[in-house]
Amino acid sequence: MADKRDFYEVLELEKGASAEDIKKAYRKLARQYHPDVNKGADAESKFKEVKEAYDTLSDDQKRGIYDQYGHVDPNQFGGGGGQDAGGFGDIFDMFFGGGGRRDPNAPQRGNDLQYTMTIEFKEAVFGKETEITIPRTENCDPCNGSGAKPGTKPENCSVCRGTGQQEVVQNTPFGRMVNRRACTNCSGTGKIIKDKCSNCHGAGKVKKQRRITVRIPAGVDEGAQIRLNGEGEGGTRGGPNGDLYIVLRVKSHEFFDRENDDIYCEVPLTFAQAALGDEIEIPTLTEKVKLKIPAGTQTSTYFRLKGKGVPKLRGYGNGDQHVKVTIVTPTSLTDEQKDLLRQFGGLGGSTSVGTDSEEHHESIFDRMKKAFRGD
Ligand SMILES: [Zn+2]
Ligand SMILES: [Zn+2]
Repeated sequence: MADKRDFYEVLELEKGASAEDIKKAYRKLARQYHPDVNKGADAESKFKEVKEAYDTLSDDQKRGIYDQYGHVDPNQFGGGGGQDAGGFGDIFDMFFGGGGRRDPNAPQRGNDLQYTMTIEFKEAVFGKETEITIPRTENCDPCNGSGAKPGTKPENCSVCRGTGQQEVVQNTPFGRMVNRRACTNCSGTGKIIKDKCSNCHGAGKVKKQRRITVRIPAGVDEGAQIRLNGEGEGGTRGGPNGDLYIVLRVKSHEFFDRENDDIYCEVPLTFAQAALGDEIEIPTLTEKVKLKIPAGTQTSTYFRLKGKGVPKLRGYGNGDQHVKVTIVTPTSLTDEQKDLLRQFGGLGGSTSVGTDSEEHHESIFDRMKKAFRGD
């Protein structure tokens, strides 16, 4: 193995090369030496060399080992037989620890939790206070999280003397190597519990259904997250609790649409209302308000109801409500309506008011209003 060329040299790279550079160099050289393409005498061995270098350098863990120790034959580790699996496992434990070097007695923060909550459209607008039940892991009360029967304490592990780590000395081609791994006697905790707490069976933790009050502020929108500090899972050895994240899903509304702080809705108008003008009632989030439709309103016109939108989550005031009017062409007309429309058309086919004699218009328009009202 000693006569092997340096992997970086093989790929014509510097030691700190980026993953991208490694990939590029490999592609270039693999193409150059591929036995299908290159019939040179040493092409195949070159190709193998390039591939081996790439296999190691493109794998972060293997590259880490290579950078520190150079060429290593995995079969020479772990006292193993032919296969590399066990040997490599030990090397990885050695360098990447699997948490083995962490102080087993250090406080550890609890996990964060996420809860998805679906709320009604108007609940998002106005906010609400609600209670939810979440399952979470908490410290066991009787043993105060120690896992030991109340009145007793966990004892330091005699094998690792409380460190949670075991040192295994191995002889390798590079000399003696000290392999640290999690203590098998105490599973890396550094403690042995002789008398286990009967409530948590030594785990120090129990699953609980916890009721939590959640206050949803007015103005939240789809996908909003609310963080409840310390309402996640319990910490270990005095560590703080994790947090609870509430992710909001907002149901749609049959009449209102929402875009940020603005509300959108659509209302139908009869032909007469649009042509002659009218005052109509529009539902808003809180009440019904009157909206004046001017004569000659075209279909798809928007009217704005200022301040009738959603309360702003940050800052003051509300968004607006936008009302889109759609003119519905009547499909079945009475004889009187037909007659009036013909008279109306006879005025010049124009919907504008005031071009002919005012008196004549008033009477036709009044009759039309009556005839088409409530269409
Ligand atoms: Zn131990
Ligand atoms: Zn307990």
